[in-house]
Amino acid sequence: AHLDRIAKVDEKVHAFLHVDAEGALAKAAEVDAKLARGERLGPLAGVPLALKDVFTTKGVPTTCGSKILQGWVPPYDATVTRRLREADIVILGKTNMDEFAMGSSTENSAYGVTHNPWDLTRIPGGSGGGSSASLAAFEAPLAIGTDTGGSIRQPASVTGTVGVKPTYGGVSRYGLVAFSSSLDQGGPCARTVLDAALLHAVIAGHDPMDSTSIDLPVPDVVGAAKLANVEGMRIGVVKQFDGEGYQEGVRQRFHEAVQTLRDLGATVVEVDCPSFDYALPAYYLIAPSECSSNLARFDAMRYGLRVGDDGVNGVEEVMALTREAGFGPEVKRRIMLGTYALSSGYYDAYYGSAQQVRTLIMRDFDRAFADVDVLVSPTTPTTAFKIGERADDPMAMYLADLCTIPTNMAGNAGMSVPVGLAPEDGLPVGLQIIAPAMADDRLYRVGAAVE
Ligand code: GLN
Repeated sequence: AHLDRIAKVDEKVHAFLHVDAEGALAKAAEVDAKLARGERLGPLAGVPLALKDVFTTKGVPTTCGSKILQGWVPPYDATVTRRLREADIVILGKTNMDEFAMGSSTENSAYGVTHNPWDLTRIPGGSGGGSSASLAAFEAPLAIGTDTGGSIRQPASVTGTVGVKPTYGGVSRYGLVAFSSSLDQGGPCARTVLDAALLHAVIAGHDPMDSTSIDLPVPDVVGAAKLANVEGMRIGVVKQFDGEGYQEGVRQRFHEAVQTLRDLGATVVEVDCPSFDYALPAYYLIAPSECSSNLARFDAMRYGLRVGDDGVNGVEEVMALTREAGFGPEVKRRIMLGTYALSSGYYDAYYGSAQQVRTLIMRDFDRAFADVDVLVSPTTPTTAFKIGERADDPMAMYLADLCTIPTNMAGNAGMSVPVGLAPEDGLPVGLQIIAPAMADDRLYRVGAAVE
């Protein structure tokens, strides 16, 4: 049924880069056969899922939305992919994304834009716009995204779906093509908080293949989603994200959601996090720096595209020609910014001070979480903007992640949950919930209560 739905609507939505009908039907048949034999099934047996094209899938193309990986078929599964398969989930295909997860609208994909199912002239958010759009268009009930600065939560917000960035180290990064290794985190996307929790439980947990993976029990996210109770909780409204510069309808729905939490028995207080004002500029030093280093591996020798290999050009020319042809403008901008920020003589001024800001952000969170159980804010300052509206204005595009970035900088956990439509444009608004590291269960408790 989901493959039929994809065939019917994806021409308009373009959530998928690659639909693996054969693989999906084979997996579904395998589940049926197991069932017939009375064998034990995985926890989400037979449930279809859309996978962001940044996770490696053995035998299935993985492009990261980039021309430089066109035609590359990975020889191995990411740990997330493997766990999905072991849970007997049916992977429908790979979803569209901003090239190497750099962007907030999916317009930076080398393979065309994804359209927001609520209004096809608008962006579905990014970088994981394909995953969230596939949920909103009912092409899949579950999806996987990655969140480096907001790429799960912001698309969830603008498509009226649920998206969770787990605690850094909570979900393995093995086989997740790296953008900014100290920030990247895979996580679940779904249409309800409980669905997201069920998927979270499948993909989370320690992995010896990822040296930053946390070796602790996974918080009971499913139990928390079922509990759906905020009575007695202390909830902090982030002062820095509750002022000017937010669309009127976003503020209105946000304040209504906060009132709902109060009505359900939570105590709400305002929390001051002064360093959050510097999170965005610091992120745009750290993320490009790590990206410039990570993307050095796309050298025309190891993967995908190779340009200018004519027997005359030398190795360096082939590399330069390939990277020139294979990377899009945003990726090139970030590689140049990052290379500059990391260069000798500038390292302390840029990368070094950004890391200091990062420490200040962590301290703001520590202070806040000494007093409250979770923090809340709008997920993103506006509803879905028009395709093309910010395409030529990187600064305007970067602002979409204003509220989500501090969580990545500190490595704690965040969720976006739909809280209604903005009256002025009828488009979805998301509430962001932030919890301390390894307290991901609190997101689900609050999210399920308010959804
Ligand atoms: N939009 C942000 C960026 O472009 C965040 C991306 C992400 O979370 N992958 O870097």
